[in-house]
Amino acid sequence: MNHRGLIQVYTGDGKGKTTAALGLALRAVGQGMKAIIIQFIKGDRTCGEHIFAAQYHPFEIVQLSTKSSFDQTLEELRSSAEQSFAFAEKIIVDGGYDMVILDEIFIAVNKGLVSTEQVLNLMNKKPETMELILTGRGAPKEITQKADLVTEMTAIKHPFTKGIAARKGIEY
Ligand code: ATP
Ligand code: MG
Repeated sequence: MNHRGLIQVYTGDGKGKTTAALGLALRAVGQGMKAIIIQFIKGDRTCGEHIFAAQYHPFEIVQLSTKSSFDQTLEELRSSAEQSFAFAEKIIVDGGYDMVILDEIFIAVNKGLVSTEQVLNLMNKKPETMELILTGRGAPKEITQKADLVTEMTAIKHPFTKGIAARKGIEY
């Protein structure tokens, strides 16, 4: 692929940020592009997308932290965010992928583990043809101003508020 790559942001409180990014990865792979998802906040590897990726290898999903973010001290969180950021930077600069997704990067920014300036610098380093996708609640204004596409998911309704817990295949 050698078309111009842009920078996309999926943010807001509503459901659909990570799944939008996964949908883009699926579409990109279908068109012969190579995609990687780097997850900044460790989630459960029993998520449907992890099981799917392990079975069919459509794209890579990388989580550098081995411990759940709930079980980590601030120091451990900081160190895993630093490792994830360094890995993301290497992947972006190397230019071996057509699509790079930094999932929940804004959570790391909002926790003070990665700075807005670091993300802005990373956005500058993107190779011309690479599509860069950033997700997570609370995208900083400086980043949305610089991005080419910004969608804010608004939580008009979510079954969670009715007491319906996360469902397999839907939420994870
Ligand atoms: P998804 O992964 O379903 O696309 P998301 O990436 O937009 O959701 P996150 O902010 O990453 O949402 O939230 C993580 C988890 O919380 C996911 O399981 C998601 O489905 C669920 N969730 C998303 N929005 C809400 C909401 N408004 N209230 C409660 N739970 C939510
Ligand atoms: Mg998400």
